[in-house]
Amino acid sequence: MRINDKAAARLKELGIELRQGISLAEETSLGIGGATDEILLGRYESIPEVMRLLADEHIPHRFLGGGTNVLIVDGELPWVVLHLPTAKPGMRVEGNAAYVDASADLGGMVTFCAKHDLGGMEGLIGVPGSVGGALRMNAGAYGTQIGPHVREVELYRAASGQIETLRGSDIRFDYRHTSFAPDDLMLRVKLELPPKPFKEIIAGIKVCNEKRRASQPLNQKSAGCIFKNPAGGSAGRMIDELGLKGHRVGDAMVSDRHANFFVNAGHASCSDMLKLIDDVRERVRGAYGMELENEVIVWRN
Ligand SMILES: Cc1cc2nc3c(=O)[nH]c(=O)nc-3n(C[C@H](O)[C@H](O)[C@H](O)COP(=O)(O)OP(=O)(O)OC[C@H]3O[C@@H](n4cnc5c(N)ncnc54)[C@H](O)[C@@H]3O)c2cc1C
Repeated sequence: MRINDKAAARLKELGIELRQGISLAEETSLGIGGATDEILLGRYESIPEVMRLLADEHIPHRFLGGGTNVLIVDGELPWVVLHLPTAKPGMRVEGNAAYVDASADLGGMVTFCAKHDLGGMEGLIGVPGSVGGALRMNAGAYGTQIGPHVREVELYRAASGQIETLRGSDIRFDYRHTSFAPDDLMLRVKLELPPKPFKEIIAGIKVCNEKRRASQPLNQKSAGCIFKNPAGGSAGRMIDELGLKGHRVGDAMVSDRHANFFVNAGHASCSDMLKLIDDVRERVRGAYGMELENEVIVWRN
């Protein structure tokens, strides 16, 4: 979708950057996605006004963080994309608390906190994407999730049209699911972290990095795990047991390294990837009687 001239002129007045006709295939780790205009929400205080403008001009929008957990339809997209600029995100530490902008890289935040002898997030080191995406998804790995460390989130709330602060205890963090409203936009977080010597944190980080390197196709385009693990089970194990590693639809392929990672092995289209997801889900349902739920967020028209 293209921003009309009136809205573009108003964004300019507000000092908001507009990038026209960008390809989301280049903004996502799967390398799949169509074209649209992108608004860079550089000044948080003008977000409520930008949102009002989009509503008044009937311009639908979606919010993109690091693009590492989304599968986006191809072609001209019927919505614009909002994005927080990633250059120089704010990060500071006060005692046991870390205050971090949602645009910050998650791994960068883990190492920044480590340098201040704050640990507890070693497991998250290899999870790509932004802090905002991690908050939305309650990202987790190797026994660590971000949710339990969250003390406050500053966010734009679509319901009130205002920037507000929520207490961590008022937010529900479940397995790859949170109680934020779908169009809440996370801006900053306050985390409380246990003190730990830098050397110990780095040792923990090394272990997690090695585990990841040994089991995941890190040099291929993916969105991490495609399916959530069902209670008490492993989606990857079931897919592997069905002999589906390497199974493909066009260039969309079940990784031969990790059966719950589906990779873009060339020029996969969104529909190739969706067919592969449906096909694998159906085979798992047939063999195990289990319905796998997507972990990847799919943006259709
Ligand atoms: C190689 C690889 C390994 C991975 N391993 C893991 C893993 O171990 N554990 C894990 O949990 N995930 C993993 N993932 C998935 C992904 O990295 C996480 O879900 C990550 O937290 C998504 O962050 P993002 O900024 O890229 O979000 P995006 O993909 O950009 O967006 C995901 C969702 O969050 C929303 N969103 C993003 N930012 C904001 C914001 N500021 N405010 C409101 N909503 C927002 C988007 O609208 C979208 O709905 C992996 C992915 C890859 C490619």
